[in-house]
Amino acid sequence: MKKHIGAHVSASGGVENAPLNAAKIGADAFALFTKNQRQWVSAPLTPKSIEQFKQRCAEGGFDARYILPHDSYLINLGNPDEEAQQKSRAAFIDEMKRCEQLGLKLLNFHPGSHLNKISIEECLDRIAANINLALSMTSGVTAVIENTAGQGSNLGNRFEEIRYIIDRVEDKSRVGYCIDTCHTYSAGYDIVGDYEGVFTKLDEVVGLEYLRGIHLNDTKKALGSRVDRHESIGLGLLGEDFFKRFMRDSRFDNVPIVLETPDESRWAEEIALLRSYEE
Ligand SMILES: [Zn+2]
Ligand SMILES: [Zn+2]
Repeated sequence: MKKHIGAHVSASGGVENAPLNAAKIGADAFALFTKNQRQWVSAPLTPKSIEQFKQRCAEGGFDARYILPHDSYLINLGNPDEEAQQKSRAAFIDEMKRCEQLGLKLLNFHPGSHLNKISIEECLDRIAANINLALSMTSGVTAVIENTAGQGSNLGNRFEEIRYIIDRVEDKSRVGYCIDTCHTYSAGYDIVGDYEGVFTKLDEVVGLEYLRGIHLNDTKKALGSRVDRHESIGLGLLGEDFFKRFMRDSRFDNVPIVLETPDESRWAEEIALLRSYEE
């Protein structure tokens, strides 16, 4: 077992339940929300919750390097409106601090959206400035930019945009990115027909040394559709052969691999299937 695989598990009832939920599906990596992802403000983590989370991660053999928390869907670090951006900035810093409290090392987030009010560059500049601010106010947590399908005015669908942001982050040791395989395909990168070409391009444009996580999802939507609809492993347009190739690709050995596939009842089975491809 070289790869570290899990799913975005529920933290319902408290973050301390996430490692238990991950253990149940045979995972050795996982993702979670450290607060309600659809609300701006959540109660602070209690000392008891923090202690239990750490204890259960240790008991379950979950290393912080393979735990990839995801931030709230409400946050838009590139928001053109100053007041709205302020709200996102505060929420993002809070998310970073929660990770710090839990002893986590990574925070995955979608870069942001220009809402058709500012240019792409202006929006990316805002995102980078907000990452710099958040990093300066916290320690030990890496900002992990997720590539997107490019739905609506969401940025981060092009590898060059991820590079642009990383170039403007001062502390290069605390910035990285996460590749979502569904988003990559929907964004127009043909990981099925040109697997090697896409990952070579990713390495050339952004650099695999900045890769901090993978969201391993199949997709319901066509290449270049820019529509984000995840599908269970092997049941979508990526298909079994893509996942077999991915699981034997050593470039993805040292990062958390997280399923965000729609049918939770299949996660244990999907993880076992992926593991069988490794041999
Ligand atoms: Zn995401
Ligand atoms: Zn994702």
